[in-house]
Amino acid sequence: MFPQGNLVRRKRWCRVIGEAGVINGSRIFIRGVTITYLLYLDDSGSVRNQKEEHFVLAGLILHENSLFWINKRMNELAGEISNQAPETVEFHASEIYCPRGKEPWETMTRENRVQTQKEVLKIIANESKRSGACILAAVINKKENTETDPMKTAFEDLCSRFDKYIARIHKRDGNNKEKGLIIIDKSEAYESVLQDMMIEFRRKGTKWNERLNSIPEVPLFVNSKTSRPIQAADHIAYSVFRRYERGDAQYFDIIQSCFDKNGPQIYGLSHITKNKDCTCPSCLSRQMREYLKKQQS
Ligand SMILES: [Zn+2]
Repeated sequence: MFPQGNLVRRKRWCRVIGEAGVINGSRIFIRGVTITYLLYLDDSGSVRNQKEEHFVLAGLILHENSLFWINKRMNELAGEISNQAPETVEFHASEIYCPRGKEPWETMTRENRVQTQKEVLKIIANESKRSGACILAAVINKKENTETDPMKTAFEDLCSRFDKYIARIHKRDGNNKEKGLIIIDKSEAYESVLQDMMIEFRRKGTKWNERLNSIPEVPLFVNSKTSRPIQAADHIAYSVFRRYERGDAQYFDIIQSCFDKNGPQIYGLSHITKNKDCTCPSCLSRQMREYLKKQQS
């Protein structure tokens, strides 16, 4: 799928953004700024399906050095499934779960398909342990939040969390030179909407009055078939969706420790709900933060 390695894909990104992006050696630059952190995002659940309660936007923050390893591990897994043509194997979680005639999943046993989904998630969990890569997810309760588009709500939430993640690294390392880029699975419905939102976030700030100084470019949209990290993001989103929509935590549990966090405080998982009794990891963490704030005041 990527016969000439990561550099080819990096060049493709730069082609997408035209003169704004350049390659210098193995580093990515946009308008002269070093792009070090890449947030790959995908969604799960339908914005419009009234039968579903939740919509999820989620993904993986990778240091650019981690790209090689994620691609390598996922290509190796693809090789175990189809050693003749691993490049044709696309890891798409909902298709693996329910193939509807799609190969190679259709002819695999249910047990092997479940195991494949878990293997993809284990690659993410192992990369998190190895390099500190972490995940972000926004879960929107659509039935309680009907006034806004769940995709737009989730995108603004995750942009803010990604910017804060990079800002914490700047504070820790004492420099603010490394920036982030968001890469999303191709979406005709939302491409220009989300790009316009990012321009507004940088110009006027988010609804929390934050200017996203660590994300210098609009999000890029790529075809999931050509991007293993987007396929990883798809599995993260699907795992979170299964946990909240169906109460099925067998996938979520594999990656639960990978959410962006600081000690017991979870920053990387956002559950937007009016249910004050929710005991999910995000709501428990928020309740703990509020309790500690009250104690200190
Ligand atoms: Zn919750």
